[in-house]
Amino acid sequence: MAEPSRDPPSALSADFMSFSPGDTASRWLACADLQQEVYCHLAEYVPRILCQGGGMAEHREEQREEQREELALQLLLLAPLEWFLLGGEPAAGLALLQQGGGAAALCGHVFKVGEPTYSCRECAADPTCVLCMQCFLASAHRHHRYRMTTSGGGGFCDCGDAEAWKTGPSCQNHTPADQNRETEEDPVSLLPPAVEERSCSIFSIILQYAVDLLTWEQEDQLPAGLEPPQRSDSYYCMLFNDEVHTYEQVIYTLQKAVNCSQKEAVSFATTVDRDGRKSVRFGDHQFCEQAKAVIVRSTSRQSKPLRVQVMHSALVAHQCFALKALGWLGQIIQYSDGLRRILCQVGLRPGPEGENSSLVDRLMLNDSKMWKGARNVYHQLLMNSLLMDRKFKKLFAIRFAKNYRRLQTDFMEDDHDRLVSVTALSVQLFTVPTLARMLMVEENLMMTIIRTFVDQLRHRDAQGRFQFDRYTAQQAFKFGRVQSLIGDLKYVLISPPPQWSQQLRTKFLDGFETFLDLLRCMQGMDPVVRQVGQHIEMEPEWEAAFTLQMKLTHIITMMQEWCSTDEHVLIEAYKKCLSALSQCQGGLPDGEQPISLSLAGHTVDTFRYQVSQEKVSIHLPVCRLLAGLHVLLSKTEVASRLPEQLPLGELSPHLLIELPLRCLVLCAQVHAGMWRRNGFSLINQIYYYHNVKCRVEMFDKDLAMLQVGASMMDPNHFLMIVLSRFELFHTFSAADLRRRYREANKDLAQQNTLIEEMLHLIIMVVGERYVPGVGQVELLDEVRREILHQLCIRPMAHSELVKALPENGNKETGLERVIDSVASFRKPGVTGRGLYELRPEWSKRFDLYFHHYSRADQSKAEEAQRNLRRQNGEDTALPPPRPPPLCPLFGSLVNLLQCDALLALEGAVLQWAVEPSGGGWTESMLQRVLHLVAMALLEEQQQLESSGADEDVSFTFSTRITRPGEAPSTSGSVLALLESLQNAPHLEVHKDMITWILKMVGNIKTTRERTSGSSVSVSHGRRPEESVRDKDKAERKRKAEMARLRREKVMAQMSEMQKHFINENKELFQQSMEDLEAAATATEHSPPSLEPTCVAHICVGPMRVGGAERRQLVTCILCQEEQEVRGHGRAMVLAAFIQRSTVLSKNRSRGIPDPERLDPLFMHPDLSVGVHTASCGHIMHATCWQRYFEAVQQKEQRRQQRLRGHTSYDVENGEFLCPLCECLSNTVIPLLPHACSPDRSVEHPCLETWLKRTNQQAAALGFTHRKQSHGAAQQVEPAVPDRFRVGFDPQNSFSSGVGEMINTFSMSAYKVGLKVNPNEQDPRVPVLSWSTCAYTLQSTERLLMDEKKPLFGSLPCRQDDCLSSLTRFSSACWTAAPIRTVQNHFIRLLSVLVPIPDSQLEDAPCILDVDMFHLLVYSVLSYSSLHSLDQSGRRSVDSAHLHLLHLVTVAHLVQVLLTFTTGELSMDQDGEESEEEQLTCQLYGRLRDHLGRCLPDISCGWRLWRCVRASVLPFLRTAALFFHYMNSASPPADLLGTGPGQWEALCSYLSLPSNLLLLYQNQRTLLEPLIHRWCCHPGVGQVLHGGGVLVRFPRESNRLIDLPEDYSILINQASSFTCPRSGGDKSRAPTLCLVCGCMLCSQSYCCQTEVEGEDVGACTAHTFTCGAGIGLFLRVRESQVLFVAGKTKGCFYPPPYLDDYGETDPGLKRGNPLHLCSERYQKIERLWRQHGIAEVIGHAQEANQTLVAIDWQHL
Ligand SMILES: [Zn+2]
Ligand SMILES: [Zn+2]
Ligand SMILES: [Zn+2]
Ligand SMILES: [Zn+2]
Ligand SMILES: [Zn+2]
Ligand SMILES: [Zn+2]
Ligand SMILES: [Zn+2]
Repeated sequence: MAEPSRDPPSALSADFMSFSPGDTASRWLACADLQQEVYCHLAEYVPRILCQGGGMAEHREEQREEQREELALQLLLLAPLEWFLLGGEPAAGLALLQQGGGAAALCGHVFKVGEPTYSCRECAADPTCVLCMQCFLASAHRHHRYRMTTSGGGGFCDCGDAEAWKTGPSCQNHTPADQNRETEEDPVSLLPPAVEERSCSIFSIILQYAVDLLTWEQEDQLPAGLEPPQRSDSYYCMLFNDEVHTYEQVIYTLQKAVNCSQKEAVSFATTVDRDGRKSVRFGDHQFCEQAKAVIVRSTSRQSKPLRVQVMHSALVAHQCFALKALGWLGQIIQYSDGLRRILCQVGLRPGPEGENSSLVDRLMLNDSKMWKGARNVYHQLLMNSLLMDRKFKKLFAIRFAKNYRRLQTDFMEDDHDRLVSVTALSVQLFTVPTLARMLMVEENLMMTIIRTFVDQLRHRDAQGRFQFDRYTAQQAFKFGRVQSLIGDLKYVLISPPPQWSQQLRTKFLDGFETFLDLLRCMQGMDPVVRQVGQHIEMEPEWEAAFTLQMKLTHIITMMQEWCSTDEHVLIEAYKKCLSALSQCQGGLPDGEQPISLSLAGHTVDTFRYQVSQEKVSIHLPVCRLLAGLHVLLSKTEVASRLPEQLPLGELSPHLLIELPLRCLVLCAQVHAGMWRRNGFSLINQIYYYHNVKCRVEMFDKDLAMLQVGASMMDPNHFLMIVLSRFELFHTFSAADLRRRYREANKDLAQQNTLIEEMLHLIIMVVGERYVPGVGQVELLDEVRREILHQLCIRPMAHSELVKALPENGNKETGLERVIDSVASFRKPGVTGRGLYELRPEWSKRFDLYFHHYSRADQSKAEEAQRNLRRQNGEDTALPPPRPPPLCPLFGSLVNLLQCDALLALEGAVLQWAVEPSGGGWTESMLQRVLHLVAMALLEEQQQLESSGADEDVSFTFSTRITRPGEAPSTSGSVLALLESLQNAPHLEVHKDMITWILKMVGNIKTTRERTSGSSVSVSHGRRPEESVRDKDKAERKRKAEMARLRREKVMAQMSEMQKHFINENKELFQQSMEDLEAAATATEHSPPSLEPTCVAHICVGPMRVGGAERRQLVTCILCQEEQEVRGHGRAMVLAAFIQRSTVLSKNRSRGIPDPERLDPLFMHPDLSVGVHTASCGHIMHATCWQRYFEAVQQKEQRRQQRLRGHTSYDVENGEFLCPLCECLSNTVIPLLPHACSPDRSVEHPCLETWLKRTNQQAAALGFTHRKQSHGAAQQVEPAVPDRFRVGFDPQNSFSSGVGEMINTFSMSAYKVGLKVNPNEQDPRVPVLSWSTCAYTLQSTERLLMDEKKPLFGSLPCRQDDCLSSLTRFSSACWTAAPIRTVQNHFIRLLSVLVPIPDSQLEDAPCILDVDMFHLLVYSVLSYSSLHSLDQSGRRSVDSAHLHLLHLVTVAHLVQVLLTFTTGELSMDQDGEESEEEQLTCQLYGRLRDHLGRCLPDISCGWRLWRCVRASVLPFLRTAALFFHYMNSASPPADLLGTGPGQWEALCSYLSLPSNLLLLYQNQRTLLEPLIHRWCCHPGVGQVLHGGGVLVRFPRESNRLIDLPEDYSILINQASSFTCPRSGGDKSRAPTLCLVCGCMLCSQSYCCQTEVEGEDVGACTAHTFTCGAGIGLFLRVRESQVLFVAGKTKGCFYPPPYLDDYGETDPGLKRGNPLHLCSERYQKIERLWRQHGIAEVIGHAQEANQTLVAIDWQHL
């Protein structure tokens, strides 16, 4: 039976051949009704091309289908349009248009998700102005201070837009060629008239068509004229996106409803999520309705059902084509500005229905009804057309503004992201300052936005204030959406107008008034009442109100900026604000009884109000705005120039300060612990009130308002009101102040705190002058002061400073402009970050009562500053710095400092301080009073200095404090009190400050006297004071000297004790030194050799020198007992971590072998997977360790019962943390004694004899083994060599404890290495133990080589210990396996090199498929099993090792030469060939004899030898390490360094001739047949002909991939990376494998794979193939390094990219340019090559438990 034809488009293919777009276009040209004609064409072809059923076909099939569809679409549908438009062949026509019309001078590149964008901090008009990468690189800004971010998608490049950039608006590519064209010439006039006419008609037909279809709401009908010729019964079941249902729900439902596989369901769900809709079934109407019913039914239970429509296939086809057509329009207009403008005209032309009927209006107004994909396409078209045309951008902006309210309301109801809403275009329009102002004037935009916003927040209380606590979830969601309106308002206000028109003033003030309405809804919201008795029951909602406040902060600041640029606007705004405030406060004093207060001879009337008993609110935006405007009146000097226009007389200072003061008192009371029962919500509110994000328009403005009020009031009155609001008035007005602490007052501590807070407030009111307008300062002075005070706490990183400073609307803090003047930069090392340090000269400006310090900051700064002064040998007084002068409007503030009320207060506190008392006063209180006194003195001094000689200085604080106080019962003047306090023993801390004050008083006195004429007294008056200072200095010096001596004495004592300790424990020290340094330092302990040349250091063979007789004493870290390491003693073990590794792999494409069938006996030279062992070097008794591990297991079981979750280690897999250092471990290595010394008495056989004998032995064994397994042997029994006992079972030389530990480690290596369950019977068990020994040595050698360290003596102790015990263990591990198994292994290994008669060993691999070092290690280690049967008494095992080494070395030489390539051509060596070179040439010649043309003809011995030498060196070095550790042989001095002579030393250490070729030359007759056999192995030919993996030598070390210097290159790379599974979709978390450079689509459903029965993310899946479970990645969007180990473990690691301030930027939040720090990258690389990743993860997870909970396998 023939296969059914699966090619429905064959009918179409016929049309393909006969169709001519040109003819169709000419027919259109000639016809009368173009629209009818075009619709007719579309009606016929669109359904046929785009209606091919569901995408259920196979993936490849589907792709081909798509290509065919695309082709047909182009040829049959789009081509005729182009022919028609251009009146001929499109390509030529378009080229002509492009030349004639010129392309836009705007870039307009639309950003993809994740693409990098650049903004210039110096030149951008606002932070939304961005450049694409190409434009940025060609612009001037790349040398400026720029910011880099990744785009969230949407938006376009602003290159070429003069309004977006203060300088350098165009990059080199977009600079207009001739400047004249800049003028507003109509680009349409450049088009040929015929094209103009045709484009006009075709654009309007196509756009109309597209708009009709995209806004079409019927499911079964089509717009008129598009009904298909034959109507079919074919439908789509279309599933739409919503934000309610989860991915899992959709996938589950689809599997049920349309009966598809899980994979297909995932694909559907992904497309729905991306495009907003996807057809999930194709067929007749009923078939689709069925699916719909199931979907609706199964999703309607919990929530509203998924949206599904059954749509006629023709309709869907037309909708698809409508999108394609819009895309086509977007492309075609790129060719000419003229075409673009025509499209704009068509789009905005009013339709037949008048208002809002243009095509663009229709699209916008239907935006929220369209699916995501359609929205994206038409938004893109708007950006390419209307937004790129200067004239039409304006017209479009007007349409947008007119529809603004409606669009926003639609958006509130829509559940899509704002990114896919047309409202998101506001950023493109409103950020253009001219457009924004035009819209403000003509469309009243500002008012519209604010009104729309206010209308959306409907919940109000009785006073009309917002009430968020009644919000439902849906309203809260809406509140989230409505905040984007504030963003729009911010765009409009972002740049204040350079000049004002009358209209603009009017409209702005209208807008301002609306804004005041908004603020009035906030004034007093969320009021609180102090909870007494019971704790609050439910924490009230507070976050919404603060969110609103935070969002509005910049807007409020911007409003003030606008006001400050025009005095008329400022005055009007001030009036409006004032009247708004009086409306708010209308009823304030009502119902509150007036009271009269008197203190220190002054009286004031106020009303009774107590914060602690009545309602109080933290939200006072109207007051605060007024405070801001008032300061502006002062700053702009409007107040002094135009006082008559200001309603200053109407101001009641009492009312102005009332609410801010209540708020500040509330904070003080919370501090004092009076509001504890009100819970956390209040604490959070107070926190945000002071927080950098809010304080500018909250705390700072309240303080400003108090300054405003105080400057307008009698200072005594002001103080009395403050006292009264703090509920402290009676404390200070009581008849007998001292009675206060005699009373049994239980709230004394609270009251003390209140007094402290109040004094602090007074300090701030008088002292905070760094706001321009309050004090005579610039804006930058303010920033500088903030930075200075941050750095007074401690040196800080750039980002910390940025966080501590408020940002303006442009996200700038001004930090960069001042930082270098106050601080110096200290670069970071390989860890840590760069820090700024305060320059010493600035610490004089330190103000202890800086208003933005928290209490914690303050005490840290105080300590740091006192220490600093102590270090410099200065006194520790921290007097206030000189404040800047006040502005005239605030000038009277200083009088607070010397008013009677304050003096009375100061007197009272000083009076209390005279007597040390329990709780009656506090040191902080005293410190604040001293600070106030000092401030007053500074003020007086400053006034004296600046006044002329004859002027009278009105500030007379110094005289006032000499008079006795007027407050009741103060016993003396303030000065007298201070003098008496100066030497009070209980005030030692404040002594320096009091001294400073008294000195200051003296100074002022002398200045006053001098100015009054008596110059004699000056010098007189100074002298005693001078001498006081000298005496002071001398005293301080003496004390410092004393301290130094004391320190020295202590140091001497300590070092004495240390010496003593060492002496006492000398033995212990020496012993442990010996153990740690093992054999490497043994030479030092042996008596100095007189003839160093005689004692050759040899590590292998009969001549080897071993330090075997040394005793090893070790201490158990668990029980602290000492123990000698002995084979028969108690077993000692070393904690170890064993893991698979691909660090050395030369072939990452080799798949993971099947663990059950893998034969690990022969390691391939590509080293694709190895087993690595590491140890922290900590030793335990085996029994102690077992007890410890059992305890860990039990603890874990208990923990799992309590709470489910992971730990940083997996107990079930044998993991534990080293009990001493918490290093991740999963097994233990047994410690074994050193090898015995070689038996020099016996005669050692030569190679030939040995080979012969071994051959016989092997043959005999092989025969016996076969006989035992197959029963009767048919062959003749080979001769058994003399005294070789085939059936002998050698005695185990280890105690059972040691044997058990040998078994434990063997099992771990087997289990981890093969990823199998433990099986003691498996013959592969010993192989894995040898394998981990060989691999670990190999990787150690690579590290030492690459880091250019000496082979011996440079390893850290823990590594040295590990290798030594690992090697000794592996030489003994054969004893734990059945001896026959090991013997078989040996025979198989040997058969690679030597033919073994009488054995069927045809499976031996060829020498190109074997790593020679592994072969050496395995054969040496397995040889013992053979040798143990030899009862001849000849302990010739050492000579056997040497012979094996020789054989393998020769094989390696051959291996190297066989794989030699003529690769790089270098200069040939001139002159004589050396002996090595000649011999190499000879050997190579022999190989060519055997293999013929397989090998290239090379006659240059020099090059061959050079390659051989370089290739064999790593082998020799690793072999030296191996024998060194196995035989405990000390290395020669040459190998302890890296000097010359390494090669010779190495060869002699290994008992090899330094001319290696002699190995071959001297045994030619013996070796020649072997070499012949090696070459003739069929595998060799196969590999050389490309039939296998050919590894060439020398093998280069693996490195991590190269990373670009500039991080944005990576971002760019990642942004163009598409998910490999979901067809061209952008990946959300592109992640780069640092090992192989592969880019992955991480953390996403689309790329999950099943690994060992579990779905895992792309990264985890990749680690299994690329890193054998260990992975290193760079998450590009986050700028974060990710380490992964297995499925459950991972951690983040600092990326190797730093900004100019020496900081990393995880998450790319700051956007500073990032550059590669190669030291840090090397550090990561080293970690990887040292196999330290798993350990780093372990430590990170131990330190941070939240890391444990992350689902790493989903990344
Ligand atoms: Zn650009
Ligand atoms: Zn450009
Ligand atoms: Zn710039
Ligand atoms: Zn112990
Ligand atoms: Zn440890
Ligand atoms: Zn993917
Ligand atoms: Zn990789």
